[in-house]
Amino acid sequence: MGLLEDKVAIVTGAGDGIGRATSMLLASEGATVVLVDVNAAGLDETKAMIEAASGAAVTCVADVSDPEQVQGYVEVAKGITGRIDGFFNNAGILGPMVPLTDYPVDAFDKVISVNLRGVFLGLKYVLPVMLAQGSGSIVNTSSMGGVGGLPGQTGYSASKHGVIGLTKTAALESVAAGVRVNAVLPGTIKTRMAMAGAAGMDPAIVEAMMDGSTPGGRAGVPEDIAKAVLFLLSDASAYMTGIELPVDGGITAQ
Ligand code: NAD
Repeated sequence: MGLLEDKVAIVTGAGDGIGRATSMLLASEGATVVLVDVNAAGLDETKAMIEAASGAAVTCVADVSDPEQVQGYVEVAKGITGRIDGFFNNAGILGPMVPLTDYPVDAFDKVISVNLRGVFLGLKYVLPVMLAQGSGSIVNTSSMGGVGGLPGQTGYSASKHGVIGLTKTAALESVAAGVRVNAVLPGTIKTRMAMAGAAGMDPAIVEAMMDGSTPGGRAGVPEDIAKAVLFLLSDASAYMTGIELPVDGGITAQ
């Protein structure tokens, strides 16, 4: 019996990286997973990987920064059993790597739109379903850059700080109704996004730098985050809400 047997869970950013690994783990624990991403080909790959492991998933191509498309993926999820039990509000993008004074205004707006407005919209349209059913667990993806500053990533850091504020406010507004909202703060995780942050460099050198900057000498892999998200979505964390959980191999302990 899996931890999420007969549950329905939504994962945004499911077409790659942390979202894909988490979708696969949630499905392996019995959830039917609604896979959301702008990348249709990535979604199809994730669905095929889940089905190859005898799991269940449906895909929904949607941009998380668009209110109508967010309502669209919520409707798809409700159409499965009428319930939404878990929600991994995870899709995000990096901005250009430049100092604040050079940071283009349109790049700032774009990063805020996906990383902050997208997480807000997910909460705005998923929470009413969970509040009405009197249960549910949500995990928002923040970052180490959502606690301290992140030189070169003004828009990204601002958006991830904002995700913490959304998480705590939503948690307090929902706790009496039996709904939990937490944030996961990945450290340096080997995904396409993290590699893109060092575009133009030899990938082997980038990976070695990631490993070297992490206590213990191992940067994270998407599955490290997936396990923490499974914990927060499952009843194993039933008395936890409004927390910021770093999953970073010890980076924030330094
Ligand atoms: P990734 O690039 O591998 O995956 C992100 C996915 O989000 C992609 O499939 C992309 O198509 C999708 N996406 C982008 N914009 C979207 C939109 N508007 N609507 C729907 N989907 C969209 O990146 P990842 O590393 O797996 O990142 C996942 C989350 O983890 C992000 O929120 C990121 O900020 C966060 N994070 C990552 C790291 C890291 O080191 N990789 C560290 C801290 C936080």
